[in-house]
Amino acid sequence: MQSASAEHVLICVAWPYANGPLHLGHVAGCYLPPDIHARFERARGNKVLMVSGSDEHGTPITVTAEQEGVKPQDIVDKFHKINSKALIDLGCSWEPHIDPRGVEFGGSLFNRTSDERHKEIVRTNFSKLLDAGLFERKTMKQYYEVSSDGNGRFLPDRYVEGTCPKCSSNDARGDQCDECGATYESIELINPRSKMNPDNEIEIRDTVHFFYRLDLFQEALELHAESRQKVWKSNVKAMTKQWLDMGLRPRAVTRDLSWGISLPMDDPEWDGKCVYVWFEAVQGYSTCAKIWSTEFASPAGHNMGDEAWKNWWNIAEDGTTPRHLYFLGKDNIPFHTVIWPALILGLNHAESGKNSNDKVELPNIGEMALESNVPAMEYLMLSGGQFSKSRKHAVWLPSFLERFDPDTLRYYLGINMPENHDTDFNWPDFVEKINSELIAAYGNFVHRVLTLGARLEENPQSPLTEFDDAEITSGYRSKLEELHASITESLMKHRYKEALRYVMNAAQLGNQMLQNATPWKFLSSQSEDSTGEYQTQRINSLSALSFGWRIARFIAITSQPFLPFSASRLWNSLGQDGDVSLVDWNSAIDWSEEMTWNTEKPEPLFKRLDLEEILASEQELVDDNQNNEQPGHGVKGGKKKSKGESKMTEEIEGIEFVNFDTFMKVDLRVGKILSVEDHPNADKLYVVKLDDGTDNGRTICAGLKSYYTIEEMTGKTVVFVSNLKPRPLRGVTSEGMMLAADDGEGNVKLITVDGDIQTGSQVR
Ligand SMILES: [Zn+2]
Repeated sequence: MQSASAEHVLICVAWPYANGPLHLGHVAGCYLPPDIHARFERARGNKVLMVSGSDEHGTPITVTAEQEGVKPQDIVDKFHKINSKALIDLGCSWEPHIDPRGVEFGGSLFNRTSDERHKEIVRTNFSKLLDAGLFERKTMKQYYEVSSDGNGRFLPDRYVEGTCPKCSSNDARGDQCDECGATYESIELINPRSKMNPDNEIEIRDTVHFFYRLDLFQEALELHAESRQKVWKSNVKAMTKQWLDMGLRPRAVTRDLSWGISLPMDDPEWDGKCVYVWFEAVQGYSTCAKIWSTEFASPAGHNMGDEAWKNWWNIAEDGTTPRHLYFLGKDNIPFHTVIWPALILGLNHAESGKNSNDKVELPNIGEMALESNVPAMEYLMLSGGQFSKSRKHAVWLPSFLERFDPDTLRYYLGINMPENHDTDFNWPDFVEKINSELIAAYGNFVHRVLTLGARLEENPQSPLTEFDDAEITSGYRSKLEELHASITESLMKHRYKEALRYVMNAAQLGNQMLQNATPWKFLSSQSEDSTGEYQTQRINSLSALSFGWRIARFIAITSQPFLPFSASRLWNSLGQDGDVSLVDWNSAIDWSEEMTWNTEKPEPLFKRLDLEEILASEQELVDDNQNNEQPGHGVKGGKKKSKGESKMTEEIEGIEFVNFDTFMKVDLRVGKILSVEDHPNADKLYVVKLDDGTDNGRTICAGLKSYYTIEEMTGKTVVFVSNLKPRPLRGVTSEGMMLAADDGEGNVKLITVDGDIQTGSQVR
């Protein structure tokens, strides 16, 4: 690995709120993508520091604690433990804390905001910003609850309920209504009452708070946003623009609450108030890096000791900016493109001795850098409804991991990642994708290579080595080299779904290669047909099998960011030494690598999933929770699931009959492929010109690129649907569809006609 040119990459992972277990929606949106990315950057030789932790302050936690009659600290201790374990069980690389390549390469820390060191840094930053005049004092109105003994307390929005001023629902929360989705100032609420003590009197009182002068950063943030227009995804651009267009206003950094970080002021005026949770949790990205430095990097001998974090945070003397990538769900975008950057700029400003009269500048050398990209995700929906922690409509990560191989979830969420639009989780689709993609393509391919190899009579220590032939397999080599470039490019662009698709294409290519080469016919070196012909065929066939080993090694390395557990098992099955996650990314296409062999009997990588079994156990879990206070939202799946369930059962058992009239409506005809070209905007599609028996012919877009070359397709007589409604596919209108057979194991064959017949002939 070339450490000289290695980049410093800071992977910032949104801080999960510690008042409940993580669900699959969180994983797809926030926690899996950064781990995939961190693993990819490490494999490329970069120096990666990954930071996150539990967000442990704020009112949702105090509400839960009061409802359960325990201390807030008990709640956060419990969920910090559960969630950090679940993330590690999912294979997220939060351990070890120091990169196995050496501490200069970074590491990771999943910290928590109740850490005293975090609190101390936040208080110091608070004072710096205050002293630089970047806060202003304001008096605001807040609900105050008077208890029967005459004492009382200010009520945060979550502690107030009442009638919605918009829709008159009676269960509206302090500042928003779940019924109609409206948000409002809490003093607009009709008939407000205390959530915890509805009988107590409630009044409006004045309270003094500090506000961060976001308005001072408007111009600098606009400049910054402008510089990111070619980088940010469209949802990130749109939401940031919306915020900047509204004009930034000062935002409260203190509140009337005791559960939080105490203020760095002694004046009794500030008693009972704390730092607002938004202001401190977001600073966790930098406090975590500092804590990592003192706790791990310095003791491990990092050459900068306690200051190691600066490598990942500050712009270097030579102007090199560390790459900062923030991973989060779409609801969190403005926090990371507007608010957190405004705090970073403010801290830079204050540290350079400037105050509110000085112009705010974008970061200079030696100062903290702003984000390089915020590849925010859309939502993963649960059978059509939004995952929600508070509404108990969710599949929880810890219980999922008790029952399934973590890589099955990583695969499903990877191939179904909500990158550009919301996607859906449902059990039938999960089972389908694992069985027919992950197992049928990836699992079966590598298993075939290993078991066939083991049956060869040649040198049992290394049966495939002597058939390793560069010339015979050169076509496959260049295909893999192309795939490698595509996977790399997709990952660089945070297109994880596409990247994983390319990895799977390698497995499909391998299956196709074995299918064509039929190595199982040539396992024996002896044959009744003792002519040289057999030996030549044998060498050709077994060269393909031998290359299958190289494809499997390619898959192990390139699938490692996505499927670390399976990649590691595969690596071992191939007889390779060491940890696959430490192998250089480009080594996947280093054809000079020595072919090793593991003489132990190969085990299948994955276990098939049984939909019926899963649905039955899900139903049990739903039943167990029937006495839940919100029966409409049974845990794990919710009632909406039944729709997807029955649909899938029909498909799987093939009992969905169509009547004859319906079938006859489909107009199938014979056509001849005149020409095939690559689709200009879609990597997997061909644009096919078809002689359909008419003068003009027709154009069809077909996803056959992984299965046929242009030459193989051209001239074939095929069957197509002629009355399918034309539709544009990425800028090319497709007028119909060609029929092909698919065995679900990566083999796809066009339906052709037995003998000559006029184009345009009807198929019945
Ligand atoms: Zn309402």
